[in-house]
Amino acid sequence: MPTVNAYAAQDATTPLAPFQIERRDLRPNDVQIEILFSGVCHSDIHQARSEWGPGLYPMVPGHEIVGRVTAVGGQVQGFKPGDLAGVGVLIDSCQDCPSCAEGLEQYCENGHTTTYNSRERDSGNLTFGGYSSSIVVREEFVLRVPESLDLKAVAPLLCAGITMYSPLRHWKIGPGHRVAIVGLGGLGHMGIKLAAALGAEVTLFTTSQSKAADAMRLGAHHVIISSDPAAMKAARTSFDFILSTVPTSHDLAPYLRTLKLGGQLVIVGAIDPVGVHGGLLISHRRSVSGSNIGGLTETQEMLDFCAEHGIVADIELIDMQDINAAYERMVRNDVKYRFVIDMASLGGEAAAD
Ligand code: NAP
Ligand code: ZN
Repeated sequence: MPTVNAYAAQDATTPLAPFQIERRDLRPNDVQIEILFSGVCHSDIHQARSEWGPGLYPMVPGHEIVGRVTAVGGQVQGFKPGDLAGVGVLIDSCQDCPSCAEGLEQYCENGHTTTYNSRERDSGNLTFGGYSSSIVVREEFVLRVPESLDLKAVAPLLCAGITMYSPLRHWKIGPGHRVAIVGLGGLGHMGIKLAAALGAEVTLFTTSQSKAADAMRLGAHHVIISSDPAAMKAARTSFDFILSTVPTSHDLAPYLRTLKLGGQLVIVGAIDPVGVHGGLLISHRRSVSGSNIGGLTETQEMLDFCAEHGIVADIELIDMQDINAAYERMVRNDVKYRFVIDMASLGGEAAAD
């Protein structure tokens, strides 16, 4: 089994540090990918720090992976060495249940396998993510990456992009819809770009006055400072659809009041939805929903949509060695708008066993 360089958290409280992991030998349907760029998602921090319950350590985070295929198993049809490839949050699922049959592997009824902080279905071995020099993934979970886009800025599409695209598509957002995105971070900035490209009228709710000009540059038509009660009151019953990326528990009531009749508030953060009073729902037949990344078919559709519309993330490229400082900056809300790790900074493969 090849040994490769990585960065890992050994427990919930110590910083990430260099670590070596083993990648499995290629199975007939496996694709081996040299990782070129790896995005840094807020979910990496939540999991590395066990904020969603006890994590599986050692943990190598990273689920926004772009790289080049270096080898394929004998049965692989869709990839060959030298091709660009992407890997997102999912690397396996049962492929058999009704959800998987519909291409909704993220809702696999037998439990999907995530790129890290998870266990392989058959071996039970820990899965290790993108903060590493290479990865081995079964073909069905590898995405085709368009050659036309800036590769380092494509990486965040594999989680941030699809997590915004999937609910926008599920609720059929398009021209004539008034959409609000809550939070201008990694997900939120993709939400603005994608909702605008789908033809919606887009508003950003932000806690950061300083991000207003950027929001307009990214494609928003309006910005509302969510801490301004007068502005929130003025926005009552104005939106068809709100997509919230806020990573911490907070009062949803001020946002719910801005939904019009039949409006939908979709959250993607694993938060406690405080303030969802029945009165706010029944008075305007409003709904609150959640949404989880996207399936493989839809992720490919999103990548192709982004290629067609020239959409990539706004990123800050960092070295692997800067990851702990990057986490601190993300927690302080200081990133424009996604960190991406240049995996060349990690150094190549360690000596094979
Ligand atoms: P991020 O880059 O840190 O952005 C989050 C944004 O939320 C911040 O930029 C900030 O925007 C706003 N915010 C932060 N704290 C806030 C607070 N207390 N109240 C109101 N707004 C606040 O994070 P991300 O990577 O986009 O991820 C966002 C959340 O989505 C995380 O919880 C992550 O785990 C989750 N996620 C879910 C899925 C899924 O499939 N469901 C996939 C990926 C990520 P402003 O400065 O504009 O206010
Ligand atoms: Zn993510």
